[in-house]
Amino acid sequence: MWFDLPTPGFSFEVLATLGHARAGILHTPRGDIPTPVFMPVGTLGTVKAMTPDELRAEPLDARIILGNTYHLYLRPGLEVISAAGGLHRFAAWDRPVLTDSGGFQVFSLAAINQIDDDGVTFRSHIDGSKHRLTPEVSMHIQGVLGSDIAMCFDQCPPGDATADVHETAMARTTAWAARCRAVERPPGQALFGIVQGGIDPERRRRHMAEITALDFDGHALGGLAVGESLDDTYRVLDDIAHTLPAERPRYLMGVGTPGDLARGIAAGIDMFDCVMPTRNARNGYLFTSAGRVNIPNAQHRTDFGPIEPDCPCATCRSHSRAYLRHLYVAKEILYSRLATLHNLTYYARHVRRLRDEILSAGRRA
Ligand SMILES: [Zn+2]
Repeated sequence: MWFDLPTPGFSFEVLATLGHARAGILHTPRGDIPTPVFMPVGTLGTVKAMTPDELRAEPLDARIILGNTYHLYLRPGLEVISAAGGLHRFAAWDRPVLTDSGGFQVFSLAAINQIDDDGVTFRSHIDGSKHRLTPEVSMHIQGVLGSDIAMCFDQCPPGDATADVHETAMARTTAWAARCRAVERPPGQALFGIVQGGIDPERRRRHMAEITALDFDGHALGGLAVGESLDDTYRVLDDIAHTLPAERPRYLMGVGTPGDLARGIAAGIDMFDCVMPTRNARNGYLFTSAGRVNIPNAQHRTDFGPIEPDCPCATCRSHSRAYLRHLYVAKEILYSRLATLHNLTYYARHVRRLRDEILSAGRRA
């Protein structure tokens, strides 16, 4: 089943379904993205420790990465990225980029001065300087960055927020989504809407109806994995994900572990991002099919086998756990590079395996 998305040049192809899970291809002007897909996070215009060539090379073969509006706006700033000709040229990355709206970072990192119906005034977490983000400013920044998929500016309340806070955030997020939609975007930039509503199914459904009515290219579930219990995350996922419009890609923001990804895919999600594989790599946690390996552990001191025997990544093909442990303990830069490459490859293969399963066991769409 082939669906043209509202933005010219974008379409979404669903190849097979298995229960609520789907395997497809998101076609973009900068290239095809097989879905489900895990998108490595490139906060500051770099997926930490990786070169663009390493990200593009098999077996990792990252088809899309994330960039962070809030971070790139503060550093290096829009004049620099604009003068460079956009984020793709600045970072030498020719495949698709998705930018978040800056909303999540403003609410989680910055010192908030004021939130009102028009936008958010905050102080930078870097130097305390004062800034204001509105839906229009966020779209302007994402336009200068030149991302392939922009996200609507939204208000993401913490997991323990009261019902009142959720209601206000939802009303604002809907109004802000309409304002983001009204901003003219550069050619070749799609726009996704974000569904908030916390862990209450009724609120989620109500907000989903408001957001999906605005005819976005795709829909994201925001406000999950923000402090609520895992049971609640999964309950909302199971309840809501498959009810998002089937003809548009569905994106679960900022989640999660390999198990979360499997759960999300089964619930009908197509796109994921999370700092977990990259951040955990740098902190000594490596993912394997037998569970997490804590590389500083003494048991790896003389273990000359690879992190994962059947992993085709360059790290596992050439280097032992003992060597990685040594690099980690000695705080060598190479450790972060080797560990990140393995963890990202693990995530990519994990999602690709689940995709293959849907293609082989599922129903052709
Ligand atoms: Zn590996």
